[in-house]
Amino acid sequence: MRQTTATLAPAPGHVVFVGAGPGDPELLTLRAARALAEADIVLHDRLVGEGVLALAGAQATLVETGKEGFGPSMLQEDITAMILAFARAGRNVIRLKSGDPGVFGRLDEETEALAEAGIAYTVVPGITAASAAAAEIGQSLTRRGRNGSLRILTGHDVSGFAEQDWKSLARGGEVAAIYMGKKAARFLQGRLMMHGAAPETPVTLVENASRADQRIRVATLADLPAAAEGLGGPAVILFGLAPRAANLSALPAVPDIKEAL
Ligand code: SAH
Repeated sequence: MRQTTATLAPAPGHVVFVGAGPGDPELLTLRAARALAEADIVLHDRLVGEGVLALAGAQATLVETGKEGFGPSMLQEDITAMILAFARAGRNVIRLKSGDPGVFGRLDEETEALAEAGIAYTVVPGITAASAAAAEIGQSLTRRGRNGSLRILTGHDVSGFAEQDWKSLARGGEVAAIYMGKKAARFLQGRLMMHGAAPETPVTLVENASRADQRIRVATLADLPAAAEGLGGPAVILFGLAPRAANLSALPAVPDIKEAL
């Protein structure tokens, strides 16, 4: 009996895109933990912490795909090709991304390739760095009467420092969580001040949010570039937010908070 090529092909596996959260394994969703425990292959970004990876089952093969800010990394097309190959081989594949997979995670480049190939996937959301950072300083990302919208923006994109709607951000009372902003600190400051932002606008930098090596620096727009200096780990810049006073004394990172001032 003749079979078509399609029926001869192995049954495609299923790919689960999983948000690993900011680092602390306790900030994983139960669904993420279960997906990790059941996975055959875990393709993970460099930012995903050891504690989270430790939750993968003994049967799982872990593959690091790189991709951290400006560091060396696999090409996106190679990562996508690997996901497709494992899925086509019928493996239970997890694509583990730091934070939430849908926030600066290049999620749709990978899901679109799967959709084109006819391979099913699901997405498990995760706690994004902005949420973790705000929680660490005891602040709310939105607040009635202060900011009814929250901007999540990148300091950097493929073409260099990223242009944004600076004017609306500069008008006071606005809050933005700026990802990949360390190297763009001077650019961000320049653009915002040029559009009229007050130099005393609070700015808090949270590096390695939720991890043991977390550092928090409290600054204003006027000293943002200085505050961004020397931060080696992933950091989110909370523009328009200062830590609550109660959190200043409760935080383990207090010495570092003073360091920047
Ligand atoms: N998908 C991720 C973001 C990936 S882009 C998320 O939702 O959080 C990488 C950037 O995320 C870093 O440059 C940094 O700005 C931010 N980031 C990721 N993990 C972080 C952490 N634990 N603490 C502070 N910032 C973090």
